[in-house]
Amino acid sequence: MQQQDQQDAARTGIYVSPMAQRRADFFDACGPLFARLDLADSPDTAASLLAAAPTDLLVIDLERFEPGIDLDALGGLLARRAGAPALLLCPFANARWLPLLQAAGPAAYAITPIEPARLQAVVRRALAAGGRAPVAGVDALRALLALRARVQSALDAPDDEQNLAERLCQALLAWPGVLHAAMFRLRPDGDLQLEAEQGKGAAAGLRLATVLQRGERLLQAPLRHAFPGLLAAATGELVLLDTLAQAGEPALADSLRAHGVVQALGMPVPADGPGQPRGALSLLLDHDAPLAPEAFDALRDCAAMAALGLRLLDMNIESEQLLARLTYVSTTDALTAVANRRHGEELLEREVKRARRYRTPLALLSFDIDRFKAINDTYGHPVGDVALRTVADCVRALLRSSDVLVRSGGEEFHVIAPHTSAIDGLKMAEKIRHAVEQAAIPGCDHVTVSLGVAQLGEQESADSLVQRVEAAMARAKRAGRNCVELAMQ
Ligand code: GH3
Ligand code: MG
Ligand code: MG
Repeated sequence: MQQQDQQDAARTGIYVSPMAQRRADFFDACGPLFARLDLADSPDTAASLLAAAPTDLLVIDLERFEPGIDLDALGGLLARRAGAPALLLCPFANARWLPLLQAAGPAAYAITPIEPARLQAVVRRALAAGGRAPVAGVDALRALLALRARVQSALDAPDDEQNLAERLCQALLAWPGVLHAAMFRLRPDGDLQLEAEQGKGAAAGLRLATVLQRGERLLQAPLRHAFPGLLAAATGELVLLDTLAQAGEPALADSLRAHGVVQALGMPVPADGPGQPRGALSLLLDHDAPLAPEAFDALRDCAAMAALGLRLLDMNIESEQLLARLTYVSTTDALTAVANRRHGEELLEREVKRARRYRTPLALLSFDIDRFKAINDTYGHPVGDVALRTVADCVRALLRSSDVLVRSGGEEFHVIAPHTSAIDGLKMAEKIRHAVEQAAIPGCDHVTVSLGVAQLGEQESADSLVQRVEAAMARAKRAGRNCVELAMQ
């Protein structure tokens, strides 16, 4: 080790941080590892130092840099470092920096906060490795391709959000090194909930609700700042703990360690547009090896696919709701909300077939409001409309759930009554006649109805049944109105 340190001591380094205290701390911890360690307060200063003399290690401490503002300058520094190896020190709540900067040029990384001893080990390792970025080998790349494919097939026709989340967790769990996979989803009511979780090996019995000490309203959970899956869902940032303790919750770190967890990652599931993410994927890993840029890319793709899966489910629900609305509108009379004529004809055909097949009686009633023209003429059309609605409501209230009320024309209605004989149909008609006569109609006098009743004949068609019942109703009109007539066979 001493020999190693002596070797390291011949090296030069540049450390970049905008914070004076951090520059001083780094110098205290790692200064002895270098023959000369230059401290830079900005990417520009570091670039001038680099231009003046080559360096053995460029350390960029990302704490207090802003991805939105400083990304270009830091990316430029990484891209133009004249072959100098680089080490990124990345705050755990901003791991999104890593794939962004690694796109500008390869770099090793460690997550902060980091203890001085670990920092020294990381710097030593980076010096020894020439600051190479973690590289995914052929097997690792193959595993990432398989991960993408599995996550993609998890999107095939899921039943609901929970089913989708379970399939996604299963797909993620098969990625080497993953001990536990979970998906959090932000519900429309603002509650972040654990949609699914799966563990294996030492983490087979790990339950996040136990570890996090609650199962619902997780955005308000006391550990939300320390558990990567929750923090990612709350902030929309990629969160990575490469030592569990660095989030400052030793009890949480201990309970994860007890299940063999070494590293924890939270990947936000993005929203369609700007705004809060739809949730997050949580991965608990059994190793502390740094993740290759390709792994970050694959995980980001998985989260994007999870977002797409949720969007597809939303679209299914929306189109089901639209279809239900369309069906309602096309089968329902707008004024009275009873079945419209066309739908009534279809329903009658269906009931005629059913009555014939099962040899059960079927009755059809027809009724028409008496002297309705006079109501319109006297009180106006809007009051006529109210009268129509009141009569429909009053009759509907008398019917069984198997009976169907149909508006067959202007002020004329049918009642399709399965399992009903002519005698029962007559009783029903009488009940309707009486109820309408008694009903109070806002804005005008009481109204009456004339009714016809017919029972389906053995070989009779729906058309013939309608004709007979309407003829019976016409007879009721001729008989003086406000009465019931039975149709002739
Ligand atoms: P009868 O006792 O012989 O049935 O006499 P009636 O006046 O009810 O019959 P008629 O067929 O002469 O008139 C029916 C009236 O119903 C005429 C029409 O303006 C009115 N009507 C039809 N549909 C509506 C509607 O949706 N709203 C209103 N307010 N009136 C309607
Ligand atoms: Mg009428
Ligand atoms: Mg009429």
